[in-house]
Amino acid sequence: MSLTLESPHIEVTVSGNGSYRVLDKRTQVNWDPNPYVPRLGSVTLRLGDRRLHLPLDRFELTRENGGLRMRYRYSKEVELTVKLRPLEDGCTLELSYEPGEGLDVENLRLLEDALWITDAEEGYVVVPVREGLMIPSNSGRSFIHRFGTFEYEGCHMEMLGLVKSGSAVLVTWHDPYVTAEIKSTANTGAADARQVLSTSLNLTRTARAVRLQFLGRGDYATIAKAYRQAARQKGWLVTWKEKLAETPEAAKLIGASNFKLWSCLERLLDYRSNEKSVKVNWAFEEAAETAEHLQGDLGIDRALFMIGGWIHRGYDNQHPDILPACPECGGNEGLAKASERVKKLGYLFCLHDNYQDMYRDAPSWGEDYIMKRPDGSLAKGGFWAGGQAWLICSRKSLELAQRPQNLPGVKELFGPNAYFNDTTYAAGLQECYDKEHLLTRWDDMRWKQALSDYTRSIFGVFGSECGREWAIPHSHFFEGLGGVSGRYFHALDASPLGAHPIPLFEMVYRDCIAVYGKYGYDYARAAEYVVHHIIIGRPLHYHSWERGLYWKQAAEDEPQGWPYDSSCFIRADDGWAEGLCLSDRFIKNTHEVLSPLHELTAETTMTRHEFLTPDLRVEHIVFGEDMDAVANKASGEFGGTRGYLDYTHTSKMGGEVVLPPFGFVIESPTFIAFHALSWNGVDYKKPVLFTIRSLDGEPISESRRIRIFHGFGEPELRLRGQIRRVSREETLEF
Ligand SMILES: [Zn+2]
Repeated sequence: MSLTLESPHIEVTVSGNGSYRVLDKRTQVNWDPNPYVPRLGSVTLRLGDRRLHLPLDRFELTRENGGLRMRYRYSKEVELTVKLRPLEDGCTLELSYEPGEGLDVENLRLLEDALWITDAEEGYVVVPVREGLMIPSNSGRSFIHRFGTFEYEGCHMEMLGLVKSGSAVLVTWHDPYVTAEIKSTANTGAADARQVLSTSLNLTRTARAVRLQFLGRGDYATIAKAYRQAARQKGWLVTWKEKLAETPEAAKLIGASNFKLWSCLERLLDYRSNEKSVKVNWAFEEAAETAEHLQGDLGIDRALFMIGGWIHRGYDNQHPDILPACPECGGNEGLAKASERVKKLGYLFCLHDNYQDMYRDAPSWGEDYIMKRPDGSLAKGGFWAGGQAWLICSRKSLELAQRPQNLPGVKELFGPNAYFNDTTYAAGLQECYDKEHLLTRWDDMRWKQALSDYTRSIFGVFGSECGREWAIPHSHFFEGLGGVSGRYFHALDASPLGAHPIPLFEMVYRDCIAVYGKYGYDYARAAEYVVHHIIIGRPLHYHSWERGLYWKQAAEDEPQGWPYDSSCFIRADDGWAEGLCLSDRFIKNTHEVLSPLHELTAETTMTRHEFLTPDLRVEHIVFGEDMDAVANKASGEFGGTRGYLDYTHTSKMGGEVVLPPFGFVIESPTFIAFHALSWNGVDYKKPVLFTIRSLDGEPISESRRIRIFHGFGEPELRLRGQIRRVSREETLEF
């Protein structure tokens, strides 16, 4: 027996064994059921002290309110109902289930190896992990990879996207108790394909439903756009417009690079809490002098300047007892002065703090604050500088943050205009089994949102680590979503999945929040990371420093950069930063490109992204209507030298532009930047870096004031019909 449901854009046929097929009428593409076993899915449940794993493969089907009711019965005690319901938009199918009375469901696979895609269909699955990941169906790889909702490098948005034969589907849910599983099998003979890429969703606890939105012809940009609507309905799409109205100071994040001195005081303990070493990396006055150097000597106009390890016993030590400020670095008075000096530059002065980790040697240590595992034991965190950390229950985090000696005290003593709570948005949502403060993942989310709101109410601008979509209405910046240590991901290795990064997040939430990468990386090997930041349109994070005043003590023989490898952005030959230290050359070159790119596009979304070459090394992006960029990532990841090739792009304003490895051209009416071997009819012997910016808001072709910045290489360029020579920077008047 089978039944058919119809709505304007889809036709769903369901069989008694639970198999279902969906026809997307707009593309005539069929999305088929499980290719391995004819069934809907499976369920794991507890029956007394038994654990049963049952296939969901026989149903009694009835029509109900325009949808289908599928009744599953294994025994008198084991019954459940699955419902299929077409939604009013005419293209969405909702699948949900209800357990029978008293049934203890541990896990239910509502999608099981569903919506599969073969190699021949040239499709892919997109996963919202950090900026986004595309897993193609023709990689030849076999794997199973799980992405837990909101977990570390899991699904950072509640969605997946699927495309085959040009037909797109958005899969969404709204519950942290969903785990997506992407499976690829190669050469199994299933479905008569060499590779099958399929998707399963595991639902536990409160998770009951999933929606499949059949989008007709489209790609991941179509999927992102559709998800943006869902995000708005969830209340998570809160844009800069709304945030800036509430917190005008947050405008300082627009175009701001992220500079972070991680550990002013670095104190290391061993596992027995013996002090191994104590080192002052920066006294507070050195931190302030560093910020003044960035503005005074490098002309960095917009910055989020952050320091960690300012707390009483140094970085990641004795939380939550943060005050008084570290005496070795200058104490309360020193930090107050540093705060004044940095804010005077127009920068955001941000302090790094933490309300998830607690240390046993903290004066206010108490087991009452700590999250408990199901067996009642204390929840262990990581082993950090201050030794073993224990996880504070997020119900208690807020209580601790509100103590006079925590955020209110920090505000009164130092008045920073921004604040950062580490790990809040990085770790997966937790459960706590302490009867005094029970916590589900939903509760954890709410309490973390409350901590964010409280911190914002004290300091204004607020951010945390990595970033999750549930945090977007409650914060202004994410540190870590954009990349980690100079790479796209942290622990996730995309290569066994045959996958590659895509800027999915920028298509959904770009106009809502500032996004940075996290941790240090080698500036002399960072060219692909720089190009990645052009693709996502985000300023960089500069987290690698020698202790003290780095620019005064740089080695004489620092590398100068080579034009055609991943050291190219430390070059400054014949350019602005010639003679400066390596860090300063890299900071200046990259900030001059990425800061205006973000400033001009922060309130837009990415409207287009495409790979221009079959090897995926050249990417084309469009922000909003008129910010267009093409970049050559060379090929191979981070410093690989395989297959370096030039790419010739015909651009609107620069004509034929030759892009060497790590070359790019960014064009918009008021801002142009290029790292190229030719631009506007001028050929160069080695790649040059220039930016051109209209200062009066008029298009560059008509502007009366244009600033030109020259990073490196030959100093000539053709602008408005004339060859001009700019060795460092110049403002031309017309
Ligand atoms: Zn608790």
